[in-house]
Amino acid sequence: MENNIRVNPLKYPNEKCKCGCEVWNQGFILKRIPGLELGAGTEDQFIDLPVYYCSKCGEILPEYRKIYKMDEKPETEQPTEMKPKLII
Ligand SMILES: [Zn+2]
Repeated sequence: MENNIRVNPLKYPNEKCKCGCEVWNQGFILKRIPGLELGAGTEDQFIDLPVYYCSKCGEILPEYRKIYKMDEKPETEQPTEMKPKLII
């Protein structure tokens, strides 16, 4: 794919994480495509989708969270049990 951007990116503000960091790492979301949908006898295949996350705190760029529906939680989050064990 050719990059046809004609604007000068340097005149735009840097995208900042909510922690203030301006440097992003690239990672990938992996989608498992069921072999059944690809044809009989085909194994599951992975498709990688690029995603950017903060190099400092690891937070994923919110736009990507939306695109990849990463905030959808199928299961309810359960608070971790923090029972203090005091054995004296
Ligand atoms: Zn951050």
